[in-house]
Amino acid sequence: MAGTGAAGLGIDFELVQQAEFIDQRASTMLWEIAVACTCAVNDTYAGLIDDGKARRTDPSCPRCNGIGFLYRAPRTVRGMVTSMKSQRNMLAGGYGTPGDMVFSPQFNTGVSLSSYDKLTATWAQSVDEGQVIVRGAANMGENAALQTDVNRDEDRLWYEPTETVWCEDEHGEEYKQGDFVLGPGRLIRWVGKQPLVGTRYTLKYRAYLEWIVFVPPQERLDRDNINLGQLILLRRRNVAFVHESPRISAQDRVTLQSRMAC
Ligand SMILES: [Zn+2]
Repeated sequence: MAGTGAAGLGIDFELVQQAEFIDQRASTMLWEIAVACTCAVNDTYAGLIDDGKARRTDPSCPRCNGIGFLYRAPRTVRGMVTSMKSQRNMLAGGYGTPGDMVFSPQFNTGVSLSSYDKLTATWAQSVDEGQVIVRGAANMGENAALQTDVNRDEDRLWYEPTETVWCEDEHGEEYKQGDFVLGPGRLIRWVGKQPLVGTRYTLKYRAYLEWIVFVPPQERLDRDNINLGQLILLRRRNVAFVHESPRISAQDRVTLQSRMAC
């Protein structure tokens, strides 16, 4: 029994086996680091100018599209992805919520993720029950005064789609691939039979899901102060950023494969 009384988890870890296990079962994700956007000022003195207005994220910021984060330095990272269901301890600790995922990056690769970084899965998954979309909403009403950068024949999606599972409008009319084109980027483009502008439709699709990183506030050291590697929570982007910008950026139109090649 080494390190009696030392900080840590108080259990024996077989680091070599753990590293091998992760290596064997690792999945590849696209990793982009989160950088605070300059539209919100954290500096104490500068933040007080103009009654603290500088501290608020600018919802019409052309750099971050109003989310307050810039995503930079894309690269691939490998790690083991598991469902929150198999991590009951993190649910019990209040760190995670059902629907989150857990990510354990490979050891000794110099990879250190931080909160608000973004991971994009390189395999397609179903977007649960799909998305309800108002045809042409990006260019309707008050949105017409916004620079959404979404064309009239396009609607914006949460994630970059790979294939349609089902598409049906509020009148029960069904649509198939060919009536529309999915992508490139986070878009559906209508080219044939289509819902009238202002009509609601449901698109259930498979997509490259994006996840926002939360690093739990627990140290991952064993009782001999050996670093056990990061254990990271991933929350779906559309859940983490509920109030997402209506804008679409040039980056949003780039396919995942092109971003992987960065
Ligand atoms: Zn900004």
